Amino acid sequence: MNKPMIAGNWKMNMLQSEAMAFFKDLAEKTKNVTHLDTIDGVICPPATLLGLLSDAARTAKIELGAQNCHWEPKGAFTGEISPAMIKDLGVKYTIIGHSERRQYFAETDESVNKRMLAALGAGLVPIVCIGEYLEDRKAGRTQAVIQSQVKSLLSSQSMSPHVVLAYEPVWAIGTGLAATPAQAEEVHALIRGMLIEALGASATKIRILYGGSMSPGNVAELLAMPNIDGGLIGGASLKPADYFSLLEAGIARALTIAR
Ligand code: PEP
Repeated sequence: MNKPMIAGNWKMNMLQSEAMAFFKDLAEKTKNVTHLDTIDGVICPPATLLGLLSDAARTAKIELGAQNCHWEPKGAFTGEISPAMIKDLGVKYTIIGHSERRQYFAETDESVNKRMLAALGAGLVPIVCIGEYLEDRKAGRTQAVIQSQVKSLLSSQSMSPHVVLAYEPVWAIGTGLAATPAQAEEVHALIRGMLIEALGASATKIRILYGGSMSPGNVAELLAMPNIDGGLIGGASLKPADYFSLLEAGIARALTIAR
């Protein structure tokens, strides 16, 4: 297992006052935690909050990430945000290709690749999401869907340990129905195998996060799987106490591996 990453995706939630209160509470909790540097804690708020939260995130010892970025550096793309604009705010990460972007905003494997390349080009770390729909799983197509998504990412020639992948079965997102550790590990191992086959041993360093109803109740058993390097978390990242529990589980896992 690689250095665990616990990444929160706030989606379209939180006003300035709520976000500041979250980080104030979180900073109180992380203040006396000694091994926070054994993991990467990240929160991806709406873009409107990225500038506001930079000091608060530093105090809480958490990095910030955006939820999306455009592939062009600038120009007539109303409503979009460029990777350079995100970087300009001191932000390190950006989510790319979340299933909600694919479902509601016509994101495709092709546009995901373009965004990933642009993010890498600007020095951001992309957290690239893949995952199957419930119909795919029911029809026994999980493996084929994942293989096709990973192949597309590999075709961009930009997969490297600078990229973080997130396996997010769409049926598990926001439903409270997390994949079992065995179900998740099966897919993570498939992804890992494809990456190693294409890229060699360096692919063992690419972090593969699990996302889909991860919570304080199931995080330890999911992180215990050999190919699960952390989590991308929606609902449970909105409450400081829950998010802090996830950070603690990540630290516990990191310390177990180090032993
Ligand atoms: C997500 O939005 O990426 C996610 C995994 O959400 P949740 O944890 O709420 O299922």
